[in-house]
Formats: sequence, C-alpha cells, structure tokens
Amino acid sequence: MFDRGQLGGPEGVLAFVVSANETPRETLEKQVLAQAGTQLGQPGLTPIQTVVEKRATFACTPGLARPPAAIAPGLQACGDYTEGPYPATLEGAVLNGLAVARSLATP
Ligand SMILES: Cc1cc2nc3c(=O)[nH]c(=O)nc-3n(C[C@H](O)[C@H](O)[C@H](O)COP(=O)(O)OP(=O)(O)OC[C@H]3O[C@@H](n4cnc5c(N)ncnc54)[C@H](O)[C@@H]3O)c2cc1C
Repeated sequence: MFDRGQLGGPEGVLAFVVSANETPRETLEKQVLAQAGTQLGQPGLTPIQTVVEKRATFACTPGLARPPAAIAPGLQACGDYTEGPYPATLEGAVLNGLAVARSLATP
C-alpha cells in the first residue's frame, strides 16, 4: 500500500497493489477494503478507481527472447525487460542494472 500524500500526491489517497489475483473486481475491492480496515486500521475507505491490468509485465514464457543490454554502440539499457535470469521482477531489474554498471566500470 502506498500513501500518495507521503509521495507528493493528494492527501488521504492510498494506492493498493495486488498481484497475481484472479478474483473478480468487486470481490477484490471488498477484500482490499476489509484488509485495510483490519490490518492497517483504515476503516471506511472509499474506492476511487480500480485498475485490473493482466499485462502489467511481460509474460515470462519458455524460450522467450529478450533484448540484450547493449542496444547500440555506447548505449546500454537495463531494467526488467532486458535479458536476464529473472522474470519481470524488482530483483531482475536490479540485477540487470548492476550488470550494466559493472560492464561500464570495466575498461
Ligand atoms: C502491479 C504490479 C505488481 C508487481 N509486483 C511485484 C512484486 O511484488 N515483486 C517484484 O519483484 N516485482 C513486481 N512487479 C514487477 C516490478 O514492478 C518490475 O519488474 C520493476 O519495477 C521493473 O523495474 P524497471 O526499472 O525495469 O522498470 P519501471 O519500474 O517500470 O521503471 C521504468 C521507469 O521509466 C519511466 N519511463 C518510461 N518511459 C519513459 C520515457 N520515455 N521517458 C522518461 N521516463 C520514462 C517510467 O515512468 C518508470 O518510472 C510488479 C509490477 C506490477 C505492474
């Protein structure tokens, strides 16, 4: 859960993220509100918007070809999308970033 007010956004607006969930939208909203009430002490929240995105990250399918970090002479890309051992995760993005930084540090 992100408190948008503490991130420079509007006060009193919270953003909840749910991953890998197949629950119908209405049920999901109710579950999130219930959880906010019991676990975060935030009863009585009103949903503003619920986004259900089934393609928020690339699908990590067998044999998937992802672009290498070196995308042009003198230009390297990094992030979860470039080739690496992890699917679209924070860890994958960090590993790819570190690999690019190391390659630049090596003459
Ligand atoms: C709903 C959801 C839940 C997730 N949950 C998890 C989780 O629980 N654990 C986990 O490990 N991973 C999770 N992920 C995946 C994880 O968020 C990503 O793999 C990771 O953030 C990728 O990092 P990145 O730096 O490659 O890209 P991003 O974090 O996407 O960063 C790219 C940045 O570039 C900016 N940008 C794009 N285009 C431009 C442009 N033209 N000019 C300037 N800036 C630009 C974007 O605004 C963004 O800030 C989740 C993803 C989603 C969508």
